[in-house]
Amino acid sequence: MEEKPKRTELRELGEFGLIDRIKEKFSITNKSSILGIGDDAALIDAGDHFKVITSDMLLEGVHFDLSYMPLVHLGYKAIAVNVSDIAAMNAIPKQVTVNIAVSNRFSVEAIEALYEGIAFACKNYKVDLVGGDTTSSSSGLVISVTAIGEAKKNTITKRNTANKGDIICVSGDLGAAYVGLQVLEREKQVFQSNPEMQPDLSKYEYMVGRQLKPEARMDLIYDLAELGIVPTAMMDISDGLASELFHICSGSQLGVKIYEDKLPIDQEVYKTAVEFNLDPVTCALNGGEDYELLFTIKQEDYEKLKNHADISTVGYMDTKENGLQLITKGGNAVPLTAQGWDHFKN
Ligand code: ADP
Ligand code: MG
Repeated sequence: MEEKPKRTELRELGEFGLIDRIKEKFSITNKSSILGIGDDAALIDAGDHFKVITSDMLLEGVHFDLSYMPLVHLGYKAIAVNVSDIAAMNAIPKQVTVNIAVSNRFSVEAIEALYEGIAFACKNYKVDLVGGDTTSSSSGLVISVTAIGEAKKNTITKRNTANKGDIICVSGDLGAAYVGLQVLEREKQVFQSNPEMQPDLSKYEYMVGRQLKPEARMDLIYDLAELGIVPTAMMDISDGLASELFHICSGSQLGVKIYEDKLPIDQEVYKTAVEFNLDPVTCALNGGEDYELLFTIKQEDYEKLKNHADISTVGYMDTKENGLQLITKGGNAVPLTAQGWDHFKN
């Protein structure tokens, strides 16, 4: 009897397992390819500096729902999430290319609205749109962006270079974008069951804004340079803090201790999470799409940033043997779990 070809389900590997599997099949052959698959962005040797390259794709029905995502915001977000990965390398974005797939469900005016948002983001982050591709789509809208940046060779920050004892820092606050998404989903359902009902989102403005209009934290890249701090490791928080900490730990062969009472959670986010029967701490740890920066610094650099109003220190890098621990408000150590966004598991 003929043996059936082996079939492995994607969910068995998960998104990151699949990427690892792809990575295994490729080796670097060009001397200028300094860093390949596995970080927020790739590094290319450009003589006196590195070119930094990253790509992120947004798909209708997976990453956005046009019933509450205005196209202008979507265009802005598509650029912002890519700039965020450039920022995560401690680099400055310079150019983007934008690929779109559209069906005839969209009008010229709709695509113009999308590009209005793209233009606004390009202006804001000082990047030039230098190309792309346009194709038809048989299903929804797809936007794929590649961003190119530049970084000094001696200040580039990767994921796998944290050291034991380094202080873990997080910018802004966490969980807002996830809670914002819950608000939008609920309002959508209310609207669908009764189109007469106009959603009142004013109470949730902050969270909804964080979901629909994320910003890349380029401001902090400039602040860090001004403070004279080069993080020992950095990445952006797109899939949830816990998931990103797992990446930093596995890359750096270390563990972490994170303190629950130090997690930056906005008051409004806290209240709304409770209103939705969600644990605010879980939202902060595992909610995605905040696009804040997670970075580690040497202990001696702490003095330089302790007064920065928008950076929280949430814990420190520990030995690998101690694993990833969350120290609760009550002082108990519990293992940190990463239930962040995985495209094949959730
Ligand atoms: P981020 O969340 O920072 O955008 P990802 O988790 O999407 O990063 O990707 C992690 C790494 O894997 C990156 O270096 C990315 O370029 C690489 N990667 C992701 N998907 C693929 C793919 N299909 N082929 C090759 N490399 C990939
Ligand atoms: Mg990233």
